[in-house]
Amino acid sequence: MPAQARSVVVHKFGGAALADAGAIASVVRLLALDRTGTRRVVAASALQGVTDALVSAATAAAAGDLDGAIATAREQRSRHMDVATDLMLDAPAIADQIEASFEELEAILERVAGARELSPRTRDDILARGERLSSAILSAALERAGIPSAVADAQAFLHTDGRAGNAAPDLARTDETARAALEPLLDRGLVVVVPGFIGLGRDGEIVTLGRGGTDLTATVLARALEANEVTLWKDVPGCMTADPRLVPDARVVPLLDAREASELAYYGAKVLHPRTLVPLQQGTILRIRPFANPESAGTTIVPGRPAGGSPVRALSAILKQSLVTVQGNGMIGVPGVAARAFGALAATGVSISMISQASSEHSICFTVPETEAPRAVAALREAFTEEIGRHEIDDIELLTGLATIAVVGSGMVHTPGIAARIFGAVAQAEANVVAIAQGASERIISFVVDGGQAPAALRAVHAAFHLHKVGGGKVGRRAQGTDIILLGVGRVGRELINQITALARDGRAPVRIVGLIDKASYVFDARGLSQRRLGSIMLHKQKGGALGELRGGEWGTAREAVDAMGAHSLIRPVLIDVASGDTGPALVAAISHDMDLVLANKVPLAGDIFSARAILQDARARGRRVLHEATVGAGLPVIDTLQQLMASGDRVHSVEGCPSGTMGYLFSQMARGRSFSDAVKSAMELGYTEPDPRDDLCGLDVARKGLILGRLLGYSGELSDVAIESLVPESLRDVSKEEFLAQLPSVDETWERLVKEARDRGEVLRYRARATRGGVRVGLVGVPIGSPLGSLDGTDNLFVFTTGRYRERPLVVSGPGAGAEVTAAGVLGDLLRMVAA
Ligand code: ADP
Ligand code: ASP
Ligand code: MG
Repeated sequence: MPAQARSVVVHKFGGAALADAGAIASVVRLLALDRTGTRRVVAASALQGVTDALVSAATAAAAGDLDGAIATAREQRSRHMDVATDLMLDAPAIADQIEASFEELEAILERVAGARELSPRTRDDILARGERLSSAILSAALERAGIPSAVADAQAFLHTDGRAGNAAPDLARTDETARAALEPLLDRGLVVVVPGFIGLGRDGEIVTLGRGGTDLTATVLARALEANEVTLWKDVPGCMTADPRLVPDARVVPLLDAREASELAYYGAKVLHPRTLVPLQQGTILRIRPFANPESAGTTIVPGRPAGGSPVRALSAILKQSLVTVQGNGMIGVPGVAARAFGALAATGVSISMISQASSEHSICFTVPETEAPRAVAALREAFTEEIGRHEIDDIELLTGLATIAVVGSGMVHTPGIAARIFGAVAQAEANVVAIAQGASERIISFVVDGGQAPAALRAVHAAFHLHKVGGGKVGRRAQGTDIILLGVGRVGRELINQITALARDGRAPVRIVGLIDKASYVFDARGLSQRRLGSIMLHKQKGGALGELRGGEWGTAREAVDAMGAHSLIRPVLIDVASGDTGPALVAAISHDMDLVLANKVPLAGDIFSARAILQDARARGRRVLHEATVGAGLPVIDTLQQLMASGDRVHSVEGCPSGTMGYLFSQMARGRSFSDAVKSAMELGYTEPDPRDDLCGLDVARKGLILGRLLGYSGELSDVAIESLVPESLRDVSKEEFLAQLPSVDETWERLVKEARDRGEVLRYRARATRGGVRVGLVGVPIGSPLGSLDGTDNLFVFTTGRYRERPLVVSGPGAGAEVTAAGVLGDLLRMVAA
């Protein structure tokens, strides 16, 4: 083997990577960035959706709808022209090639419409142009970017068995011809673009390799050129534990054994053409990587290396299946019935996805694609005419609308009880199993269910084997950094966006924001939201807009948003909750997607004790971290101090604190002789209050902080158990805000008296939360002027820890504790601790 040939790398770009001019430009950038000096071959799919469009033009023509067929063809012609123009491929050769290809297409369509017949050969001829044109465009775009490139047409060297529509490559022959065709070009330093999906038949005619065939082209080329690596760039983060469209919490499988991958491909995991793995040889690594996130490692498939881990690796489903049953008493003990049935189906070219034979040999069933069922039944009736005539076989039965589900994993054979777990889960999902087959290998168990129940059955099996935990949220060994999802885009959220982007920009931490979630919508980009995009999003939010209204925005609950984002392979994802409502369900979902949590939002941790524990304890049980310093003292180290004290074995008797900047301001103003109503109004003007100051004065926020502290000390009560003294006079609780403000001076006198009485006792008034293991109290107290709480001034917060060791002189933490900026700083502190860990 020539030494040079070892350094070939094959890249395959699927339709999604070639959706439009922008995507093609990204492909060019991706190839331009590779400076490893390897010899590169690119297998290109047709532009996204082109094959489907060509199929529908062909079908329309065959049905006599020439106008429809031509219209579809013209749409595609101008689409290709537009892409070429947008990429500024002014080379007339490209435009000519597009024109010529579509002119030829129109002529073919006319012939098909005239004959009302579409032969498989003609169909292939029609489809082949999709890949040919995309290759020409891609190669020209590479040239334009200064990357020398050439197209090598697969019809010239990729030999097949000539079966139109589903040709199988002749590997031995192609090894030589492909090498002869490509190596001279590679030797000249060119990036060689090969149209995928097509090859040549026995008479030199063009054939296609079946839908998704560019995957196969890539591995065929890799084999011929003895490439060290083939990368299939796709619109999914890798090969996942199940089709993410059917199982939303599917995860990327980081490492897959080639035999497992080939079972998955064969059993309908659309991510790979069924025969992709066939040509793969020892020494060649196959990767499935996300085109949208080229940093991410995706899935690596290494031939001959079984991967450890869960016995069940992944699931797949083949939808739209029929079950054909041959049964009858006369079959018992008659040898060769199965073989004959099998032979009859093979002869008509029907592909069988599963065979199961009852142990009594009373019946044999086959699953076949719905579209092929009539042919299968006809073939079997013919093969068994005599037996049917003699009533040894009761006719051939057909059941349609089914799905075959395959459970794949090399480890299953060594693990007892797998089948029981699978069928237990399926039964719980109330899906009805129509047939079961242990696959030909021990790596697979497949069964047939009603088509409508397939997604539920898949999800149930997925959950039963904890496949949503695969990769542990740390997908991709090469991936570095931290992906951040921000829940809540209010004042604190926006401040945080600024602080986080500054961190990333200055290179102080490898963090990036991938998702933002507001009340009913979200935006997400697995590659990270650019600074520009974040800027315009913040502007939109400031004006009161919703994320869903933006380009690329989606509508959905926070929980749905987290589920959608969690289905991607994120890098050490952290969800930051700076919302103000009950985000509990979204947080639980985040934990199930193996995200770490940073919270400034108090509501979920001060909600009912079961939900709060579910968040804190489930996270711990799954090895996830939850930091929530900002839920109590904004940027002050309150929780941290408390936890350090407890961890060091000190016994914490109580935590007392004034955790409200608003209240702190009011009391220090009143101590200076200002009236209550005046102080409230000035706090409003300074932005120290919520829009309605009663939200601060009612004490609920302080109570939540107290409860969070209490629960850390072991208190297991609810918010409703906390004694809260509200500072809003009863008569003013249900009136409008204006009315409230107008009436407020009516309580000034009372306050004046309270302040004076306290002063006479040598005390000042404070609004205090006191938390112990036994309970939490929140309300007005008088404290000695010289005490820590008494010395507090302005909007500062202050916390006093009384412990076994700090009994005489309690430990005090104080400082600024309110405002978007310090809250964001507190959150950022937690985030940095996570990033550093
Ligand atoms: P391309 O043509 O770009 O190479 P495909 O569209 O053929 O890619 O394959 C990706 C699609 O396969 C995804 O959109 C996904 O819905 C589907 N799919 C099915 N099973 C899986 C799986 N186990 N892992 C990833 N994707 C899967
Ligand atoms: N363009 C073909 C298809 O859509 C082949 C491929 O994309 O791999 O099936
Ligand atoms: Mg495909």
